Amino acid sequence: MTNDLYEPANFRTALRDWLDENDLSPGDDHSLQGHIRQFARVQRALYDAGWSRYGWPEHAGGLGGPAILRAIVGEEVVGRRLAEPGPYSMLEVLAPTMIDYAKPELAAEMVPKLLSGEEQWCQGFSEPGSGSDLASLTTRAVLKPDSGGGTYVINGQKVWTSFAQFSHRCVLLTRTGDADTPNHQAITAFFVDLDTPGISVRPLRTMHDVDEFCEVYFDDVEVDASRMLGKPGDGWQLAMDLLPYERSTCFWQRIAYLYSRFDSLVDEVKRQGQSIDSDMGEVYLALHTLRCRSRATQHRLAEGHKLGPDTSIDKVLLAGAEQRLYDTVRDLLPGAIELDDTPWRTEYLYSRAATIYGGTAEVQRNIIARRLLDLGKE
Ligand SMILES: Cc1cc2nc3c(=O)[nH]c(=O)nc-3n(C[C@H](O)[C@H](O)[C@H](O)COP(=O)(O)OP(=O)(O)OC[C@H]3O[C@@H](n4cnc5c(N)ncnc54)[C@H](O)[C@@H]3O)c2cc1C
Repeated sequence: MTNDLYEPANFRTALRDWLDENDLSPGDDHSLQGHIRQFARVQRALYDAGWSRYGWPEHAGGLGGPAILRAIVGEEVVGRRLAEPGPYSMLEVLAPTMIDYAKPELAAEMVPKLLSGEEQWCQGFSEPGSGSDLASLTTRAVLKPDSGGGTYVINGQKVWTSFAQFSHRCVLLTRTGDADTPNHQAITAFFVDLDTPGISVRPLRTMHDVDEFCEVYFDDVEVDASRMLGKPGDGWQLAMDLLPYERSTCFWQRIAYLYSRFDSLVDEVKRQGQSIDSDMGEVYLALHTLRCRSRATQHRLAEGHKLGPDTSIDKVLLAGAEQRLYDTVRDLLPGAIELDDTPWRTEYLYSRAATIYGGTAEVQRNIIARRLLDLGKE
């Protein structure tokens, strides 16, 4: 590989050539399990050819280069519909956290498993009583007596854990402090193997009929202290560092997907003999605004800036653009949402979740008002 390849335009051209020559088209299995299998297959091929290692640090199994290179891979792969955006997004959310917080030898061992599609991971943050108010979480980790500080025992329940039923490991938030510990210093993160005794994963049915997320129960689950991410009490900072990825960069490839669905909508509208009206223009504008914002965020990341509360803007724009696209599908393709068994229906229903996952629209607006505009409380 020449250094030239680290230049984004060259990288994209070479990747496109490679994708043209290597057929990774999905088969006919459109189940969630099929999507996960296809994602693993694509990641394996990309990893073996080096592509999915660019933009990730060498000490974690990557080939280095700016983070923008991995954004290009996601955009090309998902834009061509070779992988679905949901499973793909977990990469961009969880790998940076492991690289920043896991002990170096653990990150070096584990991150390549995620990049190569050998494993899927999940994010165990939300609980039945703790979503927007994440700091109130109650899943507890206590040091096992007589373990010499070497083992923690975890009890509690997580919910809405995406892809847990397919995952090998989980980035888990727990409470470790005692009653006197200030709330945000009482949270500690672990990297937990999901086949550890005491863990049960139960998929939940969703209104769009895809069992994307799960309840995960922890009953006396023993985890080695070496699996702690950071130090005791670092869990809140870990969450604050992870969420900006979940609210911005992990959507870059989702935007490519939404553009491809916008093109499909244009085709269908034309086929039905309708004219392309101003609603379509508004959808395009919303998508374009989102892409411009997201592009600026990708560049900030590539230049080494730390992502923070400003990514709430990306999240608000994503949710708005996605819902506007599918609302327009509903308005322009009569019956496609209500009656037909088409992908539009599933996607329309899933788009309602865009104002919930990664932090609700209301909470993002609170962050923008308080932390970016300094407008004070409530
Ligand atoms: C598709 C999907 C995938 C998900 N995947 C994961 C995952 O993999 N891992 C994970 O840990 N979690 C996941 N979640 C959970 C998600 O993070 C939470 O649903 C979200 O943070 C909201 O929490 P909640 O559902 O408990 O709602 P609540 O916090 O109970 O909110 C209920 C309502 O009250 C509003 N509200 C709450 N607080 C305020 C406030 N201070 N000001 C104004 N309004 C407020 C909210 O906006 C919302 O409308 C997923 C959710 C979805 C929909």
